[in-house]
Amino acid sequence: MKRNYPSPSTFTRTQSAALFETAKTYFPGGVHSPVRAFKSVQGPPVFFEQGQGCHMLDVDGQTYVDFCCSWGPLILGHCHPAVLEKVQETVAKGMSFGTPTPHDNRIGELLLKNHRYIEMVRFVSSGTEAVMSALRLARGVTGRSKVLKFEGCYHGHVDSLLVQAGSGLVTFGISSSAGIPESFANETIVVPLNDPAALAEAMQTWGADIACIIVEPIPANNGLLLQDRSFLELLRKTADEYGALLIFDEVISGFRVGFEGAAGLYDIQPDIITFGKIIGGGMPVGAYAGSKKIMENVAPVGPVYQAGTLSANPVAMAAGYATLLELLKPGFYEALESKTAWLCDTLQAHCDANGYEASFPHVGSIFWPTFTRKAQHRSDEIDGAKMSIFKTMHLACLERGVYFGPSGYEVGFVSAAHTREDLEFAATQICAALDLAFRG
Ligand SMILES: *Cc1c(COP(=O)(O)O)cnc(C)c1O
Repeated sequence: MKRNYPSPSTFTRTQSAALFETAKTYFPGGVHSPVRAFKSVQGPPVFFEQGQGCHMLDVDGQTYVDFCCSWGPLILGHCHPAVLEKVQETVAKGMSFGTPTPHDNRIGELLLKNHRYIEMVRFVSSGTEAVMSALRLARGVTGRSKVLKFEGCYHGHVDSLLVQAGSGLVTFGISSSAGIPESFANETIVVPLNDPAALAEAMQTWGADIACIIVEPIPANNGLLLQDRSFLELLRKTADEYGALLIFDEVISGFRVGFEGAAGLYDIQPDIITFGKIIGGGMPVGAYAGSKKIMENVAPVGPVYQAGTLSANPVAMAAGYATLLELLKPGFYEALESKTAWLCDTLQAHCDANGYEASFPHVGSIFWPTFTRKAQHRSDEIDGAKMSIFKTMHLACLERGVYFGPSGYEVGFVSAAHTREDLEFAATQICAALDLAFRG
């Protein structure tokens, strides 16, 4: 792929803008997932047509270093040769049979032999579907109806989880989308992250009806709100005390902060783990997993129904298998983490030297540019007014060939394909963008 970075004087979105105008006549807002519409940043969305390694090529012929990585799945970068080869070989033999295939067992074995926190897994086709199924399983196992979630954790667009905290410390959830019956939202209890007192109060009030506590153990969909291990431990203890299940939603953290994800990082055993993103290597895949005892409640063995026409289709399984295989190579995560730390340290040093109020919290290869130096553990600690700084930085990065997801609440990802040279280039451009954002 040719490399043609834009500069502020050459940057253009002519073709992207034209495609977007047409798209808006075909699709609501021109997109198939709201954040893609660039509503929180400037200009029309950039349309891309090719990716190679850590680079993406847009329809105006410009290249960018990609830190969005399709929102996380592309931990190996775009078009990794091993993944491409496996997918091409598989697709030529048929895209879906609606039957079991040997691919199922290959990825199943790889997954379960290398992840000590799960014994059985069911594949689905998205992270949302994985979470939705995990909730049904938790309700089926416990015979209870309510779910406790945390404000600032995203679990996909499942009805009962598109819910935010009402006013007051501990309340029923109120829906954050039209189209969700109040009765559904009432099944969800929302409490702040990192707040043992609120958790205790909610459990004292509703504990006997709570089927599960669900958390992003590494909350990374509303900034990066890192939690203390002790808080996650408390969730484990509290769930046990009340006979509820603990679900780790690892759709984003799974295989990202280590092969065993956050469960492995913090060494905490959840009852159910949900996966998505990386597990499909760029194809639409989700999964939920747990002990054999819990998973055997799922149909056809148990009474909890869950099915899927394209579940575990061979092409998606092949992409996932080839991706996971790479992650198991010795030193994979160490290399990725040290590159990420280098990038964040370099950006931090630039901000410190210039007195910019910014920091770059990171874990594994997830990082978040945020415009405060204070540690943030709860969603209400994020200052929404600072998002204007991100907005300026985002455009300035685009104009210099660096692509971030188009929202200051989204994290960035470093992939195995980002070389030191790519990161040096990107760091220089991001520093220039920060200069503009802070000094104008
Ligand atoms: C992305 C994400 C989801 C939703 O996954 P989709 O594949 O977009 O449906 C759910 N939970 C978490 C933690 C996620 O990061």
